[in-house]
Amino acid sequence: MSASSDIDVDVLKSRLEEVEARIVAACERAGRRRDEVTLIAVSKTHPIEAIEALAELGVRDFGESYVQEWQEKAAELEESVRWHFIGGLQSNKARFVAGEVALIHSVDRKSLVKALARRSDSTVDVLLQVNISGEESKGGVEPADLNDFYANVVARPELRVRGVMGMAPYADDPEEARPYFRRLRELFEGLVAYAQEHAPERAGDLREISMGMSGDFEVAIEEGATLIRVGSALFGERNYDA
Ligand SMILES: *Cc1c(COP(=O)(O)O)cnc(C)c1O
Repeated sequence: MSASSDIDVDVLKSRLEEVEARIVAACERAGRRRDEVTLIAVSKTHPIEAIEALAELGVRDFGESYVQEWQEKAAELEESVRWHFIGGLQSNKARFVAGEVALIHSVDRKSLVKALARRSDSTVDVLLQVNISGEESKGGVEPADLNDFYANVVARPELRVRGVMGMAPYADDPEEARPYFRRLRELFEGLVAYAQEHAPERAGDLREISMGMSGDFEVAIEEGATLIRVGSALFGERNYDA
């Protein structure tokens, strides 16, 4: 992690203002209210001081991808923040995260579902990650398997499925992400219809579509994102080996 003294609060503040203005503009274009979209600041690899600075500027939701890094930050942070676990989660680490974060975005296998359910003392809120890009390197259930996977997860009362998460393939032009985001929105709507038929008492839990990153969050908002996961546009570039 980079030297913590490097953080510049004024720079963070102006980046946050710019991201916020872009969110507002995208909501306006889409005819949506600003409060329909939650900004998650993705703080992986960035120091705790940067998280504190954004928290003081009013950001409440933070995303982390690595269990150990998140644990270290959560233990040290004095501000109360809502943590989102957005990275690939190994089943043997599920117990560290279940019940400890507000939302796990990356549930995509039965073994993980089982591990999360076994560990929970309270309800675990999750999103089902869908592999909309077709890239093998990205996790997620296949779109065709989403409804069956959902049926497996809702069979466990310990877990509450709040929606879906997905990632578009990397592209320089954000417009290229649009069909992927539209697809995820359609899969979400199909899932709601499936739930209304097969698990009507749980269908109302389905409210969130987590999609959009620094390069494409405006398109994601236009296509219906309720949670956007923004890292480098807020914190600057990540440096994995500093
Ligand atoms: C790192 C990460 C992000 C943030 O990426 P940026 O391009 O820096 O905004 C969003 N979602 C996931 C799942 C990530 O791993």
